[in-house]
Amino acid sequence: MNPAGKPGKTASLMPVEVALARLLEMAEASPIRERERLPVAQVQGRVLADDLVSTLDLPPWPNSAMDGYALRVADWTGEPLLVSQKIFAGQAPEPLKPGTCVRIFTGAPVPADADCVEMQENAEVQADERVRFLESMKPGQNIRPQGQETTVGELVLPAGTRLGPIEQGLAASLGCAELDVVRKVRVAVLSTGDELVEPGQALGPGQIYNSNRVLLCSWLQRLGCEVIDAGILPDDLVTTRARLGELKDVDLILSTGGVSVGEADFLGMALREEGELALWKLAIKPGKPLTFGHFRGVPVIGLPGNPASTLVTFALLARPYLLRRQGVKEVEPLKFQVPAGFVWPRPGNRREYLRGRLENGRAIIYKNQSSGVLRSAAWADGLVEVLEDRTLMEGEYVVFIPLSEVLG
Ligand code: AMP
Ligand code: MG
Repeated sequence: MNPAGKPGKTASLMPVEVALARLLEMAEASPIRERERLPVAQVQGRVLADDLVSTLDLPPWPNSAMDGYALRVADWTGEPLLVSQKIFAGQAPEPLKPGTCVRIFTGAPVPADADCVEMQENAEVQADERVRFLESMKPGQNIRPQGQETTVGELVLPAGTRLGPIEQGLAASLGCAELDVVRKVRVAVLSTGDELVEPGQALGPGQIYNSNRVLLCSWLQRLGCEVIDAGILPDDLVTTRARLGELKDVDLILSTGGVSVGEADFLGMALREEGELALWKLAIKPGKPLTFGHFRGVPVIGLPGNPASTLVTFALLARPYLLRRQGVKEVEPLKFQVPAGFVWPRPGNRREYLRGRLENGRAIIYKNQSSGVLRSAAWADGLVEVLEDRTLMEGEYVVFIPLSEVLG
């Protein structure tokens, strides 16, 4: 619902899709080109470097989809047929003797000249071991034809595919022992803020525990990145400059905090001095300030520091950027529409990503949507997208992005 006559207040903010398009453009300008060959069992989360083209027909020969009997449809007269051979999976069959049938098991090659398999439930073994078939059969019945899944020369997985258990299984089915994958993206994680203390230490006055560091390091590992944990950076320009300078061999410096236009924006200052800086104010909530730039040629993304803001901006912007650096085409998460199980009475000027859950087919939201409350995301199954300038009544459709879609 867009309240009639109410002008949007979003003009000065950058829409999420514009920011994403810019980040992806930047990612495409510096693709990771190096590759490595790995055993197929070790490519989980990695990105395929070359098209995977089949060198096999799959299945390589027609085989039985059932335990039963292979025969020629034309040989069926209603009279029992002699069983002339028995074929298990893994055996090579003899050609079918005319006027007979063959005992066959699931996955076994169907002998030449047999054109159907009848399942054993529809067959009656006679006292003399001949078999009577109870129903008429159709040619091709219960036979998986050669090449039904894949034929030689067919493109099975394009370069840029992210590999998971299913793709690994598929590659194995084609006989691939190894795959060429894009080398891991090296990401340095920096947490900025004088108030931050690592868990395990005592909290002093005004201090809080650093949650973003472990959140991002763990997430990046799940994404198949090589993580360089660069620790906590104090709010101080000299140290910021020095620490950024140490991170030469990385593909991305990912920092959190210190990107608001406040006085403590040392990351921005360092980038301005020794690189370039784009400071974006995004129409996103939680989120808003986001830095993209370079420090001595190394790309830097500065996410906002509030943990829920870090999470949302990483999921929707930094994650696609990192995947695109590796050549992944499909970088956006699967989203679907669900009816809202809540009301949203006041339109906002930023697109909201509420931490929500599905309950009885409707999206409900965590009671506290403050950007500092990470617990909202631990409670949630997904992000509920509420567009700018929108109000919602219960039952109106909203976009739901499962967290499982973005966490890996
Ligand atoms: P900043 O963007 O630095 O102004 O930080 C915004 C808010 O996020 C402040 O309340 C910070 O204390 C908090 N914050 C920043 N970094 C972290 C972090 N690594 N872990 C937990 N909270 C943080
Ligand atoms: Mg700070």
